[in-house]
Amino acid sequence: MNPLPALHTDRLAPDHDDPHDARALFDVLVAQGLRDESPTRAQALAVLRTTDDDLLDLVAAAGRVRRHRFGRRVRLNYLVNLKSGLCPEDCTYCSQRLGSTAQVLKYSWLSTEDAVAAARAGIAGGARRVCLVASGRGPSERDVTRVTAMVDGIKSEHPDVEVCACLGLLRDGQAERLAAAGADAYNHNLNTSEATYADICTTHEYADRVETVERARGAGLSPCSGLIAGMGESDEDLVDVALALRALGADSVPVNFLVPFEGTPLAGTWDLTPQRCLRILAMLRFVCPAAELRLAAGREVHLRSLQPLALEIVSSIFLGDYLTSEGQAAQADLDLLADGRFVVEGADGDGRATAVPDEHDTAIVVSGAGAPSSETGVTVRRRGPGTSVAANA
Ligand code: SF4
Repeated sequence: MNPLPALHTDRLAPDHDDPHDARALFDVLVAQGLRDESPTRAQALAVLRTTDDDLLDLVAAAGRVRRHRFGRRVRLNYLVNLKSGLCPEDCTYCSQRLGSTAQVLKYSWLSTEDAVAAARAGIAGGARRVCLVASGRGPSERDVTRVTAMVDGIKSEHPDVEVCACLGLLRDGQAERLAAAGADAYNHNLNTSEATYADICTTHEYADRVETVERARGAGLSPCSGLIAGMGESDEDLVDVALALRALGADSVPVNFLVPFEGTPLAGTWDLTPQRCLRILAMLRFVCPAAELRLAAGREVHLRSLQPLALEIVSSIFLGDYLTSEGQAAQADLDLLADGRFVVEGADGDGRATAVPDEHDTAIVVSGAGAPSSETGVTVRRRGPGTSVAANA
């Protein structure tokens, strides 16, 4: 066996003329990942700057860390949008923001019965965590009361299924109320680095988001916090937010790839390639080796035919649709997992959950410069919660 070349792992990027250089970096990252040690900032940046020639080696290296913790299991999460649109906040990436003209569904709170029914559909499709999400700056006490009733309803029917709430910025005592009602987790994404947060939102601050994640953790809720890539951020921003998520102790890290809705300030922003998405996921896997890394919104349109490679890195995906956009058919998600010989958590012995593909013909294609072809374009959600059309689960 050839001895490994000298390591240059603190350099900003591998020597692209030396194929051993990137592989030596990956070996170090795997060894660190298996020990749950964080890469240095320079190492994490180097991952984002590897070449296409190194991509399969990078995926394989991140996959070793993933399998060490999670084997081949994949957890399915299911989103229930409890309240859609009409938000007073101005997050530039969001189709529900103040001033958004995106043609997304707009509705106020689902009833407890409708929320529990929506969760039931996702659970029947194989989900083991249900995410109850509401637009807005943060919940009122009355809103928390509504959601505690929903949590109770879901837990009564499915005590083995986790419930995560995502209701915006939390005030004193609200996380405790959710935990007392039986919620398992709370999601509040950091989204981007502290240095660039003011570029994507002016109505609240990065520190507000950090505070809410800390409140959730302090109340005993499992902290779920992630990011959105593809908003024009630099490599440094991505590494900084990844390191911040590790420092916050996020148990779950959802990774969204920007869905640039027409009618929002980031319309037409199609900066990502499938290769870039895989590098971002690999970097996050090395930075957060023990976290449930979740492939979230935008995976279909940005990873496209390379989605199977991403599953070697992440350990969780959302089943079916997102908050305001449609995902691929739930059966296609399950087929993807079965083809890759992944084991769906909680599924029957062959690792396959069951789901019925949903037919729909009301898709609205989101277009923009550099957008993917119409065959893989983004569609605004027109089924599931807030509609009379069956959910995609
Ligand atoms: S991300 Fe949340 S807080 Fe920001 S505009 Fe969208 S719904 Fe409102």
